[in-house]
Amino acid sequence: AATFSVNRSTVVTATENLIAEGLLSGNKGGGTKVINNTWSLLAAGSHMNWSSYVEAGIYQPNSSTIRHINEAEFQRGIIRLGTGELAPDLLPSDQLSELFSGMKHRSVHLGYEHPKGNGELRQELAKHVKKRGIETSPSSILIVSGSLQALQLISIGLLPPGANILAEKPSYLYSLPLFQSAQMKITGVSLDKEGIQLSSLKNQHEKEKGTVLYTIPNFHNPTNVTMSEQRRQELLHRCEMMHLPIIEDDAYGELWFHSPPPLSLKAQDKNGMVLYLGTLSKTFSPGFRIGWVVGPEHVIERLADLKMQVDYGASSLSQWAAAEALKTGIYDNHVASVRYKLKEKSQKAQAILEKHLESLATWNVPSGGFYFWLTLHKPVSMGKLFKHCLDQGVLLNPGALYDHETSQHIRISFAYATLPEFEYGIKIVAKSLKNLYL
Ligand code: PMP
Repeated sequence: AATFSVNRSTVVTATENLIAEGLLSGNKGGGTKVINNTWSLLAAGSHMNWSSYVEAGIYQPNSSTIRHINEAEFQRGIIRLGTGELAPDLLPSDQLSELFSGMKHRSVHLGYEHPKGNGELRQELAKHVKKRGIETSPSSILIVSGSLQALQLISIGLLPPGANILAEKPSYLYSLPLFQSAQMKITGVSLDKEGIQLSSLKNQHEKEKGTVLYTIPNFHNPTNVTMSEQRRQELLHRCEMMHLPIIEDDAYGELWFHSPPPLSLKAQDKNGMVLYLGTLSKTFSPGFRIGWVVGPEHVIERLADLKMQVDYGASSLSQWAAAEALKTGIYDNHVASVRYKLKEKSQKAQAILEKHLESLATWNVPSGGFYFWLTLHKPVSMGKLFKHCLDQGVLLNPGALYDHETSQHIRISFAYATLPEFEYGIKIVAKSLKNLYL
């Protein structure tokens, strides 16, 4: 160990200073004592004022409602009507414990991975996305730590500051602060029951440097709209004419109840206009933090290089398990059973909505995905509704999180809460709405 010699007078002066600051007590002849709490005060850095730093970072904080939701989701006994996540009993826990217990007989790579991610996983994913009509190769796939990270890498790696993101209005709530933090401008494009309305793509967008279109074509979050086959073709054609690249976020595409949605935009992309995003979060396990991007190889290389700066790769353990689950059929079998169970759950949830909310709101009938997008008969203060429900142990996602202008929508997920919890929660929502309408 290194030793340092310190001048005696330095020690005396330092001790005097600590006594003057009340951190040490010194009794003549009685030695020097550390005052209670001094160490914890010193350790906690109580003398450092972090406030100006806390506000200074490049990324903006999430809205207070989002922060509130993120905390409240972990309160004991809370009913999570907003959560866009499979319920714990719909996750593949048994299959995964079997997979992990077999680890000792396999060679598992636990080092850092290739910049684009685990090669075997990329091979499996190339086969997997083929089922969605996408022809690609492992070298055109990047593994990301969840598809939200793909949006971040695209924003900071491919788009100039101030670039315009055309996004469905409303759109995925975490994408919006992420784009804003990356200094992007967001322009809402309107939706109808067939998807993006082409009339809202103005030709002026063609001239703006770095403009991209961000779309969630399948079981859209939050509205659950699925883009029709015809609209997909028209949209691709229009974007080709406008030289407008597309980020296709397909988080929910595998979660259909009756028949698969039309082929992805990427499957029909002849000119390399589309960056396709997939994830294990909605179908398998959000905690894996595994997503992927499929795109032209030089774009994938740029994003892979950036990912090395950001986190040096997604968890190698998650990547190994994901590759195994895809290879062995565990993933496909699980998703088939989730589709069936979600369909049943959505039908029962639908009956609960009809029983308690029919006089207060309308909603979509889901044909896949996780969500009911409720349109209230009358606008209410979303802040008050959120608080009323939370005070009674029910957590909601107010529509205003997805579109700043709306106070007439609520996103309700049927994927997370159990059906008895769902019914209890919906009764509270109905009661709160009636109180607010008075
Ligand atoms: N896109 C959409 C549309 C989503 O709903 C979500 C999760 N709510 C994500 C992306 C992010 O998923 P993850 O980062 O967990 O892959």
